[in-house]
Parts: sequence; C-alpha cells; structure tokens
Amino acid sequence: MRMSSDFFITRKEVPKDENTISSKLLLKSGMIFKNDNGIYTYLPMGLKLLENIKRIIRNEMIKSCSAEEILMPSLVSANIFEDSERDSTFNSEIFSIKGRDNKEYSLCATHEELFTMLVKNKIDSYKDLHFTLFQISNKFRDEVKTKYGLVRKKEFYMADAYSFDADEGGLDISYDKMYLAFNNIFNRMGINAIVCNSDPMSMNGTSSEEFQVVCDYGDNEIVKCNSCSYCTNIEYATSYDKYKREENKLFEKSIVKVKSIDELNIDKSSILKSVIIKVNDNYKMILLKGDSEINVYKLYKLFKTTNIEFPNDYELEKIGTCLGFIGPISSTMEIIADNEVKSMSNAVCGANKKGFYYINVNPGIDFKISKYSDIKLFDENSLCPRCKSKAKILHGVEVGQIFKLDTNYSKKYDLKYTDETNEEQYVYMGSYGIGLDRCIDAIVETHHDEKGIIWPMSVAPYKVAIIIINVNDREAYKYGKKLYEKLNSLNIDTILDDRHDTVGVKFNDMDLIGVPIRITIGQKFQSGFVEFKLRTEDNSMDVELNSILNKILNEIENYVVWKEESYGRK
Ligand SMILES: [Zn+2]
Repeated sequence: MRMSSDFFITRKEVPKDENTISSKLLLKSGMIFKNDNGIYTYLPMGLKLLENIKRIIRNEMIKSCSAEEILMPSLVSANIFEDSERDSTFNSEIFSIKGRDNKEYSLCATHEELFTMLVKNKIDSYKDLHFTLFQISNKFRDEVKTKYGLVRKKEFYMADAYSFDADEGGLDISYDKMYLAFNNIFNRMGINAIVCNSDPMSMNGTSSEEFQVVCDYGDNEIVKCNSCSYCTNIEYATSYDKYKREENKLFEKSIVKVKSIDELNIDKSSILKSVIIKVNDNYKMILLKGDSEINVYKLYKLFKTTNIEFPNDYELEKIGTCLGFIGPISSTMEIIADNEVKSMSNAVCGANKKGFYYINVNPGIDFKISKYSDIKLFDENSLCPRCKSKAKILHGVEVGQIFKLDTNYSKKYDLKYTDETNEEQYVYMGSYGIGLDRCIDAIVETHHDEKGIIWPMSVAPYKVAIIIINVNDREAYKYGKKLYEKLNSLNIDTILDDRHDTVGVKFNDMDLIGVPIRITIGQKFQSGFVEFKLRTEDNSMDVELNSILNKILNEIENYVVWKEESYGRK
C-alpha cells in the first residue's frame, strides 16, 4: 500500500456510542467504517486483516480436522427451520424477507439445517462416513440491541464447521480434533481464550463448550472456580447445594401491616422472594431466598420451554395479588422453590395485599411446595458444585463455541446410513463456530497501547511500514520504493509512507494502525543506515542498508506461526 495514493482514512473522532477501546481504535485507524448501528464496512486494511484471520482458520481446519470447505447461501427459504423446530427459538432474531413470488425467505443466522439436508445426498452407507465440512460466510441476526462495535452486529462473519460420524465414539474424536483446532486458531491469532462449559440446548445439542475472552464489557458472565477447573457460562452454572434447614425454633406465622418492607428491618436473606411466571399461559409461583436472582435459563430447562413471561401489574391484580406483596400462602398456583429455600425458617413473605406481609413463615408448614429445583443465578455467595470452593464471576466475549449435536438433527431430518449388518442408523453430528468479527475485537482489546493497535504478526494487515522522512530526497525515495517492491515481491505485505506529511504524523499513523515493523529512511540514510523499530518495543536501532532486508526477513521468520503459514506450503 502506498500512503500517498491508496485508500486510507484515519479519524480523530468516532461516533459517541462506540464505547469500547477496540471499536474506537478500529474506527480511528481506518480498519472499519460504521454504516449504521450494527452494520460496518471493512476498509482495505480491515479486509486484509479479515483475510489473514480466514487464512489461519482455513489452515487449521484442513490441517487438524481434514475438513473441506464449501460456501452455503445466506438467503434461504424460511420453512427450513420448521423441521428442526428452531423457528420458535430464533424467530425474533431472524431477518425475514418476502420475495416477489410471495414466498417467505430468511437470512441465515446459523446453518445446521442446511448442512444436514445437504449431506443427505452423500451419506448412504457406513463407508461414506466420517467427514467434516466447513464454510466461512456472512450471517445475519436481528439483534435487539447492537453494541460494542464488532461484538454484536446485525451482519457478521462466521466460520462454521460440521462433522458427520457413524457413532458416538466417532463424534468424540471429531469433537476433540476441533477442540484442538480451535485452540490452535486462537493461539495463532494471539487470542487468549478460556474454555467454559455452556448449555448445549441452544443448538439442540448434548454438550457444548465456549471459548471466551475475558474483558470488562463482555456480555457473557462466566463462573470460574478459584480452586478446581470448573469453568461454566453463568446460564449453565450450578452451585453446591449447602442448604439444610437449621434447627431453629419455629414460630407461628402472623400478618403485619407496613408501609414498606424496610419497616420490618430484616435481612434480605430472610425474605421469601415470590415471583409469578406464566409458562405456556399457566401461572406458577417461583420462590427464592431474598438475596438471590432467578436464572431464566434454568426455568427454560425446568419447564422445557422458552415461552415464559412475567405478568404485568394489571395481570397480577387480576389473579389476586400485587407487585411487591406476592406470597405463597393461600395461593392455588403450583409452587416451585429454589433449593436454597430448604434452609429458610421464620421467613417473611408478601400477603398478596398491598401493605401486608406475613412474618414467621415456614415453608412446608404454612404452604406446600410442589418441587425444589436449582433456580437461582450463581452469585458471589454460591460455591463451586465440584469442590465447594468460592468462584470468580468474570465477563467474557465469546469468540467460538463447539457442540456435540449427537443424533438430534439427523433424527429430525431423517439422516441415516446403513451399517455393516445392513441396519439403518442415525448419523452423529457436531457443530463448531468461530465469530471472525469478535476475534478482531478480542485481538485489539488485548493488543493495544495508548498510541494504537499492536497487531500480532500473524494477523497484521501489513507486516512492515517504510517511512520516507524527506520525500523530495530522490535517493531516499528511490531506495524506499525499491525496498517496498522487494518485500511485496516476497509476499510480505508492506506499506510505503511516501506522503508529504511531517514525521510526527507518519509515526503516529503507523503506531495507530499497529504495523509490527517500522523502517525509517531519515537523516542517517546518507551515511548508509536506516532505522529499524518494532511496534512492541520503545527503542529503535540503526541497520546498514545492505543488511536491512535480512534483518526484516529474520524478524518475520522468528515469528514461527507466520513462517509456518507463508513459507511452509511453498
Ligand atoms: Zn471448584
């Protein structure tokens, strides 16, 4: 790229709603351009970056998993989600379009269905298995709230892979290979991802793991045990069930009239928090300890549906209670309590009448509980379910997720093969996804300083920048241009900064866009030296003109990952 003539924009100001370091730096450095909320353009440098990320993914998919690449359409007939029964799960997030043929179409947010239908044409006998396919394509999601730059986009890039095996053992091998490939991919990109367990049900799977990059604005919460390897998405986190009723003297319940619960001057943990939910149009009551919150994902699992609503004030009044004073006594609803409620005695709860509470309420004596279950959201008081230690709650950005789908999709799409004894069997599937935009976000978030981005060599859009301080110096200019052409001919993406700008502007721009190696042709050029500087280091060094090419090549060769990719295949 020649800075004097090529498309290059840096910006001092970025839109006000861009509030993460990574999105600010990506916009300022001219990697991306914001078209609309959740919609971005990859500019020339950003596109090179995206291509470098794709290259690493392709290389690992082929090398570690022997996967073959295809490209699926993003525009599909809307009815493809009906057979997998995922239309209800995803409906609100799927972009729908009506064609001129009056047919409904969807912009795909995920491709499990299409891959399953595709391979039906290929799989007949056990001899046709195993294989893995992958694609790198754009997907669409009608996000309720787009945020954090590239993290929550409406149109985003994903690498998704699917494995097809004859049995569970085969799926285990495919899954393990993909796990390794994902680790290699993130390492090669310079991403430090932690692996945590997650709920496989979002993809109708049987087990799943997420690759998360810890950062403050991450929209996932992760429970990580301080002592053992337990690491789980909070939606999926259980806790050690330490709750047994203490041998307290039980008092008889009575009703009190108060202006607000504060008047009772009690600890939150003594309150029996009562929440009414509507499950498939049936009202049910959930009880928790007053200092706990509901984990709605646990309710989805408990009731085997996502059709769970919280009634508004008007509805609550209609069913004979009011917000802030809900309670289980005399209620005709089915009551399900969190396991923690087992430990509660002489508790306080609403009396279903404004201004009234019951005190000294004892579950099981004053009202009946239909079922105890793990309902609460893991919090700082919860203990690790494996080793009973305390755990940290971290925020993370999910960059990848892997699923064992087992035979769930093949059963829905009748994807079968005949085994060696001529019996029909269902195919075992795995599904694996990496969010490319999210990877870019994670790299910038963890590789930057106050001056700008510091790209790892493996993904850097340009590896070398050559800065000519005095463009009017014919000799210096000629030398810089020759070195630039030489490096590009060796497939080393290089920038030639031949602009008539001050040295300060040039240095600042190169620091902002994060080029790993900077060569400056300045005052010492006449004495036979140029300046060599790495973006990761503060100091520069003078290198003789006839040694600079080798110095650059050695530096790049030292970066094993890049060497492996670019030179290894020649
Ligand atoms: Zn533990």
